[in-house]
Amino acid sequence: AKRNIGNTFTIYSPEIDSSSQQNLSLLSELRSAIQLDQLRLFVQPKLALGQQHVVGVEALVRWEHPTRGFLVPDQFIPFAEQTGIIRLLTRWILNKSADLCADLIAHDIHLKVSVNISTHDLLDQDLPVKFADILTRHRVKTSSFCLEITESAIMNDPVRAQITLDRFSAMGVELSIDDFGTGYSSLAYLKRLPVSELKIDKSFVMDMQNNDDDRIIVKSTIDLGHNMGLRVVAEGVENAVVMDLLTSMGCDQAQGNYINNAIPAQQLIAWLADQYNT
Ligand code: C2E
Ligand code: CA
Ligand code: CA
Ligand code: CA
Repeated sequence: AKRNIGNTFTIYSPEIDSSSQQNLSLLSELRSAIQLDQLRLFVQPKLALGQQHVVGVEALVRWEHPTRGFLVPDQFIPFAEQTGIIRLLTRWILNKSADLCADLIAHDIHLKVSVNISTHDLLDQDLPVKFADILTRHRVKTSSFCLEITESAIMNDPVRAQITLDRFSAMGVELSIDDFGTGYSSLAYLKRLPVSELKIDKSFVMDMQNNDDDRIIVKSTIDLGHNMGLRVVAEGVENAVVMDLLTSMGCDQAQGNYINNAIPAQQLIAWLADQYNT
């Protein structure tokens, strides 16, 4: 029900009450999800175009909720961001990713593991040191990792972001600009930040065989990246036509459902063996 109080319009509805209630319960559930080991590390392969071999994976989190089933990040990451719980979640992902990396190395498999870092994490200037500790404990090299950061996360507080990113870079961790082209940002940051990869957003890639504008944007981004000495990755590759277009445009790497969906991290080694034995 809506009530008019003077000139202001106050909304008073049971839906709003129940949704803030739901948020509260989601918040406590998310806290315990980490403690109760309900989060799952999934990975999606990244393919080098041309040679067609897997050169890396992107870590993507899932929440195996006891009653709601498998939740995808869009259902809880934005919320984790708002509440700051993302810092715990990122710590968890970094730990599990280091675990995975150690496992791969034990099998003599050398892939770069990419992890998504959010706005809040960039404000956490201790994170680079904590990450270094995690890697030392797992005996894996910092150069095995790439951190993916969106333009909007950087632009939220460019000065502090730069400090955190410089620390990661000084440690030897690679940095990637995620969802490139979608954020409101200035290209000037590309000059200042120690970035080594651009990731073209899937919204430009998914339908590029049918859309002239998308093709122009993708090609221009590949050229911009290469002219700046960066590696360029396309995400959201859903068919062979797009894969061929990207190859002919000189794109370095591709990721998408045409190559493979995200799979549970513990299935990666078997999946890789399968790829190369057929
Ligand atoms: P993102 O970083 O842009 O990750 C790529 C998303 O595109 C993933 O969705 C992936 O499953 C999906 N995708 C991959 N290939 C295709 C394709 O061919 N077609 C289509 N339509 N989609 C494809 P996912 O796993 O649902 O993750 C969504 C977003 O949630 C991610 O977008 C990222 O921003 C965030 N996220 C995921 N895991 C984490 C995490 O561990 N930490 C943080 N901070 N954010 C995460
Ligand atoms: Ca990403
Ligand atoms: Ca992306
Ligand atoms: Ca995205």
